Amino acid sequence: MSRQISSLLAIAAVCVTLAPAPAFAQAPKKAAPVDCEQVKCLALTFDDGPGKYAGTLLDTLKKYDAKATFFLEGQYVKSRPAFVKRMVAEGHEVGNHSYSHPDFTKSEPGTIRNEIKKTQDAVKKAAGVEPKLLRPPYGLADLQTADVATEFGMPMILWTAGSEDWASKNVDAIKKKTMEVAQPNGIILMHDWVKQTVDAMPALIKSLQKKGYHLVTVSDIVKGQNLQPGDIFPVPAGWEK
Ligand SMILES: [Zn+2]
Repeated sequence: MSRQISSLLAIAAVCVTLAPAPAFAQAPKKAAPVDCEQVKCLALTFDDGPGKYAGTLLDTLKKYDAKATFFLEGQYVKSRPAFVKRMVAEGHEVGNHSYSHPDFTKSEPGTIRNEIKKTQDAVKKAAGVEPKLLRPPYGLADLQTADVATEFGMPMILWTAGSEDWASKNVDAIKKKTMEVAQPNGIILMHDWVKQTVDAMPALIKSLQKKGYHLVTVSDIVKGQNLQPGDIFPVPAGWEK
């Protein structure tokens, strides 16, 4: 590089550094997207809601700048639409968890289709968006479930580990279990109808963040997986397609 060009570059660099900040820099800045291939990510997922404690949970998530994914049951979307609207407005992800929680592996395709469709419609009505991910009730799916999920263009999302909150219903046990099973790019199963889960959340989020976890949505976690409609993630033992 000639001396002339390099000194011009040096001047340019100084100019960039010294240039006054444009007025829009004063606006509240939007958080940069988290790259889960570079940093430690974890997705907390809450099933069967919106549960009656969803408002408190949303307050906590907001306070600690954490994102979550809610796999919603259509019947509760219908009865508690304001929570769903808030979830979407505050940057959380909403997924489809059927309308009334039947076991899809024991259901006719028409029933599965109806359960998914009614929930898509209810979420759309409540929050103006349609879920892109399906979590089959009980985490149970078969090839027939996969076919119907494909019709809706949705991959199916299970979990890497559970908090066992519904079984323990104990704040300390929920914290302990979740800290034990947390792993980079993990997907944790929880429930916002379990009061103790919502009570555990402030301390739990603090502990996870202290361990370096960024609490993100499921879509952030699976970004690199190239999931197709009807795919299941993580792939359960014995699953063949
Ligand atoms: Zn469920």
